[in-house]
Order: sequence, then C-alpha cells, then structure tokens
Amino acid sequence: MQQYFQPEIETASRDEIVRIQNVKIVKQVRHVYDNVAYYRKLMDDKGITPEDIKSIDDIQKLPFLKKDDLRECYPYGLLATDLSNCVRIHSTSGTTGKRVVAFYTQHDIDLWEECCARAIVAAGGSKEDVVQVCYGYGLFTGGSGLHGGSHKVGCLTLPMSSGNTDRQIQFMMDLNSTILCCTPSYAAFIAESLKERGYGPGDNKLKAGIFGAEPWTEEMRTQIQDGLGIKAYDIYGLTETSGPGVAFECSEQTGMHINEDHFYAEIIDPETGEVLPEGEKGELVFTALDKEAFPLLRYRTRDICILTRGKCSCGRTHVKMCKPMGRSDDMLIIRGVNVFPSQIETVLLNEGYTPNYMIYVDRKNNTDTLDIDVELSPDQFSDNIADMQDMEKKLAASMRTMLGIGPKIHLVPPKTIQRSEGKAVRVIDNRKLH
Ligand code: ADP
Ligand code: ZN
Repeated sequence: MQQYFQPEIETASRDEIVRIQNVKIVKQVRHVYDNVAYYRKLMDDKGITPEDIKSIDDIQKLPFLKKDDLRECYPYGLLATDLSNCVRIHSTSGTTGKRVVAFYTQHDIDLWEECCARAIVAAGGSKEDVVQVCYGYGLFTGGSGLHGGSHKVGCLTLPMSSGNTDRQIQFMMDLNSTILCCTPSYAAFIAESLKERGYGPGDNKLKAGIFGAEPWTEEMRTQIQDGLGIKAYDIYGLTETSGPGVAFECSEQTGMHINEDHFYAEIIDPETGEVLPEGEKGELVFTALDKEAFPLLRYRTRDICILTRGKCSCGRTHVKMCKPMGRSDDMLIIRGVNVFPSQIETVLLNEGYTPNYMIYVDRKNNTDTLDIDVELSPDQFSDNIADMQDMEKKLAASMRTMLGIGPKIHLVPPKTIQRSEGKAVRVIDNRKLH
C-alpha cells in the first residue's frame, strides 16, 4: 500500500524542512511587501523591511494579521497578484461573522490539492478507493479541497456535496464507497441513518473517514468509528490558508501533521502575542510560505492548540498540532468560568448520550444561565417523569464536575434536535455581549 503521497517531503529531515522554509520565507515576504499595500504599511509601521527577514527565525519580526484585517481589506485588499492570474474564489462559511473571500491561482489550487492528497493517502487511500465527498461544494472549501485531493491520488471520486442523506446512503451502498469525507457531525448522522435502515457497521465497504471543518472530541471519534466500522481521521484547515489539508492525521491518530513545507505554524499567547515554546497551549498562527494569490503572513486563526515535534510511528517528520480545543472566540465565559462546548460533548458521550445537543446561554437578573438540551436515544426515552428527572440530575452533576458550574439539563425526545449536514451550530448565546 502507498504510504505517503509525496514521500520525500513528508519524511524529510528537520534540517531539510528548515532549509526549505528559509528559502521560501525570504521570497514570500518580498512578494507580499511588493504587492500588498496593506501589509507593506503594517511592516513599515513596525519598521521592518523585507531585507530584515533572512531566515524563518526572523518571522517573529513580522506583524500579525487578524480576521478584522481581512474584513477591512474585503474584497481585494490582500490580493498579491493580478486578478487575471487568479482562477478561483472561495469564502469562509461565516461561522463567526462577515464572510472573508480568498483567491487562488492555479499554482495555489495545485498545492492545496496536494495537501489534501497527502491526507487521503495517510488515511489509507489509493487509486483503488472510492471517495465519497459529502462536504459542501461551492464557496465552502471542504468539497473542492477533498475532491481535488481525491483526483490527485487517482481515487474514484463521488462528488456528492452535503445533504440528501437517502441518496448518500444509496450511493455509498451501490457504489461501494471506501472513504467518507464530511464533517464529523454529518458522519454521526449518516451512521445514525444507516442504523435506522437496518444496516450494521459491517454492511458497508467503508474503511476510513476524513472528518474536519469543526471541532470534535475523542468520544465522538469512537462513536463514529464504531457506528460506521471505520477508522476516523481528522483534517484541519481554514479558508484563509486555502482550506482543508493544512494539517491531517496519520494512522497514529494522535494529532495532525502540519504541511510545513507550505505552512509555517507558531503558537502565541493570545493576550500578549508572545511566541510560546513547543508543547504550550495558545493561539495557532499560520504563514503561507508559497501561496501566490492570497499569501497571509502570521495569520491569527483564533484556534487554541498545542504543537508537538515528537517522532511519529508513521514516519512523517512534520510537526503535529493537537485537535483544536475550540476557537478563542468559541470559549464561553459563564459566571466567570471558561467553558468550551467540547467539554460538554465529552461528558454527554461518556455518559452514554447522543451527540445531538444544543447549548443556550443567557443572562437573567444579571446572572448567566446555561441550559443544555440533550436528545435521548429511543431506548433511553421513557414516559416515567421521575426517571427522566433522575437522569437530568445525574447529568447536571457530571457537568458540574467537568465544567465547574452546573447547567440546567433538559432531556428531549428522540429526533427533536436538528441534524447538521455541514458545520454544526450547537451554541446559542443570547446575552448579546458583543
Ligand atoms: P469559518 O471561520 O467561517 O468557519 P472556515 O470554513 O474557513 O470558516 O473554517 C475554519 C475553521 O474551522 C478553523 O479556524 C477551525 O476553527 C475550524 N476547524 C476546521 N477544521 C477543524 C478540525 N479538524 N477540528 C476543529 N476545528 C476545525
Ligand atoms: Zn504520523
């Protein structure tokens, strides 16, 4: 079986990776300085010239870019090449505000698709595979990215896009899909739908899934793996850096290798901007080392993460990022306590509940309230009110242990929480603090 898509670079020595990064950063900073007036001004204001950047270590001298800069520059302000050289536009899904548009030259598309091809091969993909892509196609990067990667590997590609679960299942069964690509929340829904139709985990031909675009817990991974009878791999990316494939999981399933020949990663303290050493938790920052059209330098993702450089059993040498622990702006501060939705998901799945839940935060009489609707599976559901109340109490107590604050739990009947076909929205904050 093919082990790597681009073995030379995926297993390159540390020295070789640094050598590549040194060459690319010098060229890239010059490219951006000469072509992007907005970033040139940021550098000028800091008193930095392209000559100051002689190697990748000098990157810390460069100013950061934030999502607000991208919004301010909408649509063409960060474009680093003539529009006539661009062949594609994508846009963020707008999870956290106004959309951002990103531009691609053909070179940028090739590079991005190669990153996705690395992810597919790492998940065991080869030209013998049938890859069912049910990430959304269109402005969202998920569909196009995995689709392009699947072509590069030579897999038979099923460009399903998201939604229409009946058709997804029919094609999966009739055409013997072996690799499934979608958001983890949609994968969980597909598993649930297969079960309802009487299929067990062994009845499909799937062997792997490549799931990303939203946070998911290890507990969710186990549930999807068991439900579909597959190995579930994480994939990470964002529109601003190209799309999925910036980082991907290998067979070890202990974090995602960042494609370091194209993206330089740093972890910073989100308050001070100080770069933190390996192993420390902070905000993930990316520099695109060789993108042409939309090359962001030191872009602050707002994703909270840890980088590690330990040896990996898969033989890849690129640095690994852990599962993002939620975005810095996803974190809820409830009665002064930091709460991440992923902590709530962990408790629910550990206690045997479904991954279908909604979190509501509000403020009543100057006090924050936290309510969680949790959907019951048909075998958990009962008309005995006392039983239900006991379950609610027990779950609230487990939540209190994990979160440090006690939520109000509302157990709701099966099938009452809307399923997601793309990125799931699971938090509604009615406090209007922003
Ligand atoms: P939007 O910011 O509108 O959601 P994108 O579609 O570009 O736009 O989403 C990128 C974001 O999605 C990342 O910054 C990250 O927060 C989240 N994300 C992507 N992949 C993963 C993953 N594997 N695990 C957790 N979060 C992810
Ligand atoms: Zn590995």
